[in-house]
Amino acid sequence: MTKSTKILLSENEMPRQWYNIQADMPNKPLPPLHPATRKPIGPEDLAAVFPMELIKQEVSTERYIDIPDEVFDLYKTYRPSPIYRAIALEKDLGTKSRIYYKYEGANYSGSHKANTAIAQAYYNMKEGIKRITTETGAGQWGSAMSFACHHFGLELLVFMVRVSFDGKPGRKIMMNSYGAQCVPSPSNMTAAGRKILEADPDSPGSLGIAISEAMEIAVQDPYTKYSLGSVLNHVILHQTIIGEEALRQMEKTDDYPDVVIGCFGGGSNFSGIAFPFLREKLVNGRDIRLMAVEPASCPKLTKGKFMYDFGDSAGMTPLLPMYTLGHNFIPEKIHAGGLRYHGAGVLVSQLLKDGFIEAKAKMQRECFEAGVMFTKNEGILPAPESNYAIAAALDEARKADLEGVSKTILFNLSGHGHMDISAYQKYYEGNLPDHELTDNEVIEALAGLDFPD
Ligand SMILES: *Cc1c(COP(=O)(O)O)cnc(C)c1O
Repeated sequence: MTKSTKILLSENEMPRQWYNIQADMPNKPLPPLHPATRKPIGPEDLAAVFPMELIKQEVSTERYIDIPDEVFDLYKTYRPSPIYRAIALEKDLGTKSRIYYKYEGANYSGSHKANTAIAQAYYNMKEGIKRITTETGAGQWGSAMSFACHHFGLELLVFMVRVSFDGKPGRKIMMNSYGAQCVPSPSNMTAAGRKILEADPDSPGSLGIAISEAMEIAVQDPYTKYSLGSVLNHVILHQTIIGEEALRQMEKTDDYPDVVIGCFGGGSNFSGIAFPFLREKLVNGRDIRLMAVEPASCPKLTKGKFMYDFGDSAGMTPLLPMYTLGHNFIPEKIHAGGLRYHGAGVLVSQLLKDGFIEAKAKMQRECFEAGVMFTKNEGILPAPESNYAIAAALDEARKADLEGVSKTILFNLSGHGHMDISAYQKYYEGNLPDHELTDNEVIEALAGLDFPD
């Protein structure tokens, strides 16, 4: 057992390839369907929206995909990211288990989002694109993309979910500092936004609405493409750098995780850390549990339905086979803005359906409580989203102690909370309500969707 609490990799131990789980999935994901014809779409149907190299990655079944040098050079400015063993937290809990976390907050964006932002901006630049449009929830993705676009000489227009735009003005200023334009969504710039505003001028917005707005702008101009911060296969591919590093880091200890945990918005940080470990299970038979943790107020994995649905609220995206609460669902204004998405990535959805991963929903107050306990012991103030992973890690340790066993627990600390201070303030003021979506609300949210299962 290493004496140090920090497990590092050297630069030349860094993975040079991303891992594509599509190569090893026992049941391949169902194809995306065209929104109008409901026939499977081909790569050319996505060409108005994404650059070809990312479309190829989206449908690829190659097991490994090389990380381009220009992307790797930027990765090297903040990767490999450390794994820490949370010894102080273990002591405070009084647990016999060992708790490790991979810290993805120590880069310019403050979250794992930089890992795919850099790759996506690079491939767009290579194909001569001049401008990108995107959505952002809490603002981590918008910030990550702003710097990446500036670095590769692209303009960026960000539609930021209104509730976060109002509550987190710091993120907009950060995006502006990198040279990006950031507008609250729903906005008057698009037909999709105007339609929502007509029905509800005070709409808090949602990621689904912001995606519709960003796509609407992108399809109008051949030099503008759209970019998504989570959910899609190519995004998840880029995030596997996290788990590839984590595997190599855990090899430097005498430990191997019994369970790997990630919070869940659209699936990118969870899949990023979990999929390389899942490969070890599928291909090499190394037993492990993989757990995605979502908010009880937006429980697509635990209460949603597996069916075809749109990724956005206006119905511009292809129909995707996934766990969903319905594309019209507008989640409660919880503080983990990055977890307020109605659907789940296709790869995670298929793997959950087939029983290879687990999902769990948690209430926000308990998660903040866990986050504050973590910060007192480890010194890092987590992003509200990451608190869900921490709370589930504490659950696992407590459960093991009750059973009289000792487990090795690894979770992804997806980001820091330095831009989310107001959420912590509300927590300390006792002003952070718990909210759980009821079964009836789920049925209502899904009513009227007649897509194939
Ligand atoms: C965006 C975000 C999430 C949720 O998105 P995933 O794609 O599910 O990872 C979680 N944590 C942080 C810090 C984020 O920025």
